[in-house]
Amino acid sequence: MRKKLVVANWKMNNTQDEATRLVSSIVSQINGLTINNVEVVISPSYVYLKEIVELTKNDEHISVAAQNCSEHLKGAYTGEVSSQMLSSIGVKYLIVGHSERRTYQKESNSLLKQKVDVALSNNLIPIYCCGERLEERNAETHYSVVENQLNEGLFHLPMDAISKLVIAYEPVWAIGTGVTATAAQAQEMHQFIRSVISKKYNPTIANTISILYGGSCNAANASELFACKDVDGGLVGGVSLIANDFVKIVESAISN
Ligand code: PEP
Repeated sequence: MRKKLVVANWKMNNTQDEATRLVSSIVSQINGLTINNVEVVISPSYVYLKEIVELTKNDEHISVAAQNCSEHLKGAYTGEVSSQMLSSIGVKYLIVGHSERRTYQKESNSLLKQKVDVALSNNLIPIYCCGERLEERNAETHYSVVENQLNEGLFHLPMDAISKLVIAYEPVWAIGTGVTATAAQAQEMHQFIRSVISKKYNPTIANTISILYGGSCNAANASELFACKDVDGGLVGGVSLIANDFVKIVESAISN
């Protein structure tokens, strides 16, 4: 059975006190749930990673992700953070290729490919984000855009490496907009992603990889999205800053 994940992407939010309060509330509420096949992943900014690894280390259902890392292994790259550093403090996952970084930092698929490689070489599990812009959907090029993002950023990996990854489908027009993809739109793209992986690798690998949905996911719509056959949880931005609502999304993943 594929693992379900619900990932909280805090982005560039929270002061120290807010981060501590938020994670404490999430941890105490998650502790009260019966969780089988769902992993909750918290992704704060770099400065809170170590503390959040500490605060969550006793809960086997909660892990920590970084929002970015350098494409370089180590060396004279002032201001950068390496995947080895993240791994050495207990970070498990790495978000790679979030659309905000693709847009504002101009991250290309070929740069993301390097980040995927350094992450895997330091035992971080990449959560590779893909998704089309509104104009690409309107032009009906959304399938080829996503296929290209997978081809250029991921499909150089050998079979044993690709099967460790998590993919997040995040239509750019749904991120932070309050406009969510319909369950049908999410399902058809997730199924497409799985079919592309199946063609490139094989059906077993395609069926092993968890594919998350991201884009204005909230407590009211999560259940319908997570009920889709090929949707294995969510990558949650804005609502992950509200502990009670985020935990409701986790509950939707548990019950679907
Ligand atoms: C995200 O940033 O990955 C995201 C899905 O944001 P939001 O939930 O706010 O749309």
